Amino acid sequence: MEPSLKEILTALQQASAAMPEDRAVRMRCPVCISVRASVIRGIKSHFVEFINDPESRVKLRAAGGYCPQHAELLPSTGDALGAAILYADLTDQAIEKLQNTPLRSGLLRRVASQKKLQQCPACLQQSEAEARYALALAAGLNNREVWQELEAGAGLCTTHLELTLQAAPAETAAKLKQLELQKLQALKVELEEAVRKHDYRFKHEAWGPEKDAWLRAPGKITRPK
Ligand SMILES: [Zn+2]
Ligand SMILES: [Zn+2]
Repeated sequence: MEPSLKEILTALQQASAAMPEDRAVRMRCPVCISVRASVIRGIKSHFVEFINDPESRVKLRAAGGYCPQHAELLPSTGDALGAAILYADLTDQAIEKLQNTPLRSGLLRRVASQKKLQQCPACLQQSEAEARYALALAAGLNNREVWQELEAGAGLCTTHLELTLQAAPAETAAKLKQLELQKLQALKVELEEAVRKHDYRFKHEAWGPEKDAWLRAPGKITRPK
């Protein structure tokens, strides 16, 4: 099996092995999980490159660090030393920048200097990883295990569904579209039920699986970066 497809299958299997009550884990998009793991590996390799490769050092400095979304992944790298070395340098850069910012026109200059920043290096990796996993999944939808897991689980988030549909052969794309329509319709029913049960007239009714639909929905309806 192609390595990226294998990673997606592993993510699917881990989700289905999670406890039934842990719906937030069970319902995660397998491409999201694989992309996240790939980005964390990428950030870890930045730490090494930062020390060993002058060109990478220039690039990381030019980006000025990570965007807030990817900065949150830093603890998941488990590399406190690597992060400290990189951020010691970025902090130097921030000090230098602040020292050179005249206060009177500070705001204007800050906006201007931010425009020159390179894109967050993890964002670049994320786009590459998303395309790679979507392509692998599109080519692997006919794999019986992959399809069964997709059917049984929450399926894909809307961003990764779109990417996969674009890359999949017509027949499998139609099958996937059908499957995901069912999943989205089921989610809609759950959300409506949750809204209904918040009404004081029905408050006495017991909650079912729709209880955490509001927590699962943002993992399903994702906004492309
Ligand atoms: Zn996703
Ligand atoms: Zn980023």
